[in-house]
Amino acid sequence: MCSTDINQYLENNKNWVNSVLSNDKEYFDDLKEGQHPKALLLGCSDSRVSPSMVLGSELGELFIHRNIANVVSHTDLNFLSVMQFAVENLGVKDIIVYGHYGCGGVKAAYENNANGLIDNWLANIKDVIRHHKAELNSVVDENERLNRLVELNVLEQIENIKQTSIYRQAIESGIKLKLYAWVFDFNTGLVIDLKKKYKITPSIT
Ligand SMILES: [Zn+2]
Repeated sequence: MCSTDINQYLENNKNWVNSVLSNDKEYFDDLKEGQHPKALLLGCSDSRVSPSMVLGSELGELFIHRNIANVVSHTDLNFLSVMQFAVENLGVKDIIVYGHYGCGGVKAAYENNANGLIDNWLANIKDVIRHHKAELNSVVDENERLNRLVELNVLEQIENIKQTSIYRQAIESGIKLKLYAWVFDFNTGLVIDLKKKYKITPSIT
């Protein structure tokens, strides 16, 4: 990993502006008109998974919320507010939960050591471990078990989204929200669609 002088980011920013304007002089004029994102994305805060970079999205395309281990907690007013605004104000119909293999938050929950304040957050993932204990125990290789836990965590967060009042109200109003379960793989740089991998179409709308 390279270490960058923080001020270098400001230089990078100026270079980026120059590059953007050389391609499109009105880029920022268009941007300030407002946002019409294609999707809401819930990802992990991990610095290595930057969804905009990995997915090649432009500014204005993804409405993003990130927290440790891409968790949907029903007591988290932050995410719930983001989701409500995305669905009810921005008219977003596609919601992506974007996890990643090698997730430190998932691993910490699995190892179950005392880590202080963060343990309260990781309790959400410990619930996932408890719900899927038998399946996880059946995976012999520990690395594979953690990978499976990352996938199960993404799928459980999809289920948590379905339990929110925002999702239920949207569905009752006839708004067809589509939920996507994606996992980023550091080894290949590829994002895996869990719906396709496990052919679980009926359970995730
Ligand atoms: Zn993570």
